[in-house]
Amino acid sequence: MKPTKSKVYCYDAGRSKILFESEKKAGNFLKFNTDEILKTANHAPVRFYFCKVCNGWHVTSSAVVLNIPTHVDKVMDSFHEEEKNRAEWKEKMKDVRQSSTEMSLKLLEVIDKRIAEIQKKIENKAAAADIRMLIEDSLNDLASANNFVGHVKRKKILEIKLAELVNMV
Ligand SMILES: [Zn+2]
Repeated sequence: MKPTKSKVYCYDAGRSKILFESEKKAGNFLKFNTDEILKTANHAPVRFYFCKVCNGWHVTSSAVVLNIPTHVDKVMDSFHEEEKNRAEWKEKMKDVRQSSTEMSLKLLEVIDKRIAEIQKKIENKAAAADIRMLIEDSLNDLASANNFVGHVKRKKILEIKLAELVNMV
């Protein structure tokens, strides 16, 4: 009894192989065909194994179960490695964003305080050059504060305030 041979090109083995849809069919092939195969060839399949690439069973004349990772194993490994790296990178970026958000927030607070200081200096009629320098510093700091979501409005308000102060000096 010979099962209908359905040969496929196995990308893992790198050659054509008979593909069995079940372990049982592969086993039966070994059971019923080995003698016949040996009549014309000097080696016959001795065991069957599951092939992840073909998603089925092949038979092989190699008795040794090689424990080397298959091509699919390697692809899966690198895929998982990539996934892990991506997750780690995402986490890192979250940290970076978090600290950059905090830094920008502090910067905005500093500018806020400086604006109050500038207003006081203007009221007290301090030296205009002095005041202009403070305003310029604040504008530079403001420009370096990141434009992250939620702070854009706050940045704009500070920008308008500083522009008003410039006109007052
Ligand atoms: Zn295969």
